[in-house]
Amino acid sequence: MTPTSETRGMPLHTKMLIGFVVGTLAGLAANFMVADAPWLDGLITYVTDPVGQLFLRLLFMLVIPLVFSALVLGVVEIGDPASLGRIGVKTLVWIVAVTTMAVTIGLVAVNVFQPGQGIDPLVAETLLSQSSERATEIAGAREGVSGIQILLNIVPRNPIQAATEGDLIAVMFFALMFGIAATALRTPGTRSFVDAVQGVYDICLKLIGWVIALAPYAVTALLFSITARLGVDVLVQLARFVGTVIVALGVHFFIVIPILLWIFGRMSPKTFFRGAQPALLTAFSTSSSSATLPTTLKVTEENLGVPRRVARFVCTLGATANMNGTALFEGITVLFLAQFFGVELGMGQQVLILMLCILGGIGAAGVPGGSLPVIAMILAMFGIPPEGIGLILGVDRLLDMCRTVVNIGGDMAGSVVIGRSEGGHEGDAAPVDEMPRTV
Ligand code: ASP
Repeated sequence: MTPTSETRGMPLHTKMLIGFVVGTLAGLAANFMVADAPWLDGLITYVTDPVGQLFLRLLFMLVIPLVFSALVLGVVEIGDPASLGRIGVKTLVWIVAVTTMAVTIGLVAVNVFQPGQGIDPLVAETLLSQSSERATEIAGAREGVSGIQILLNIVPRNPIQAATEGDLIAVMFFALMFGIAATALRTPGTRSFVDAVQGVYDICLKLIGWVIALAPYAVTALLFSITARLGVDVLVQLARFVGTVIVALGVHFFIVIPILLWIFGRMSPKTFFRGAQPALLTAFSTSSSSATLPTTLKVTEENLGVPRRVARFVCTLGATANMNGTALFEGITVLFLAQFFGVELGMGQQVLILMLCILGGIGAAGVPGGSLPVIAMILAMFGIPPEGIGLILGVDRLLDMCRTVVNIGGDMAGSVVIGRSEGGHEGDAAPVDEMPRTV
């Protein structure tokens, strides 16, 4: 979805909300009145389920090219040794460290609040068996994978096979290696490869826009299927999920980031939030880190006093690669749906999810709903029905607005901290049209 498509006719998020309400009400009515009617089963099996499936398949279709291209470009941007090697390393450390904190907060919150617990185990089992076949099909056989094997599996024996099996972490590893090599070897050939990868990334963004435009219909269909089967219980759980995400985002944004700013950036939270406000508001209203980037850059330089070369690098890269809010949201969503469908995830698997979410924050596109393909893929990897995404889609716009604010806040805070470590104002402003390309 691009900002322009938002402005044509009724905004997409309004349509999604309408889809959510219509699907939910119709599903609840069916559940109350005709729960046992054979035609309802037919309607779900032959109409609403396939419509939801179509949407999910379109999302899945984009995962591999999107994650591959975003990661290769991310590494190429970070690793440009000639100009930004040192800042690149600092940015990388910031991204990994702060995203790890964010995902940890999310995982702790979801374990403490247990928003997905409480559904009738029998119902959960039925739901699970209905879709687990497809989920395992996508995920390949991952059961019993533990310890050293998990680490070994990060390195794919065959990247194409990893991609076809939906082994996201192995694909990410391959993309990282490709990016590193493309950075180390600067030949005309590797440069045109990187240009082609940029083309793949741009095309993926366009396609995501088209797929997300179908979301209102998918939301209606998926919500109808779920509420017609489960009744009103599911809504209570959804409210608990929204609460958990908002609390966790709040802790990261209002406690962790200010502390980091205070200690490493020597900037008071008041100065930061006052200066950052225009970009935070833009992020809130567009739900897109990429669409917010011009405002982020301007505000970071002019209001927060970060040297231009630092701001443009950290913020531009951050718009696609540093997504604290998104990574936190991915972690909560995956665990919430695991609880919801009664899929047990041990400590080892949760650590693996943490790593995947860190990479998922890097691999997600900075557009509204950009994290959905990544979440669908992680769900499938752990045998959690990806259909569960339908549950959260209806409330996703609100959460997307909030997590994009956290994403952008993290980029700006990172710029302040790294700018400070580079010696603050340096008066070395370069023209903005020299910005890196990962937008
Ligand atoms: N909307 C987010 C962003 O642009 C990505 C996501 O979490 O879906 O930062």
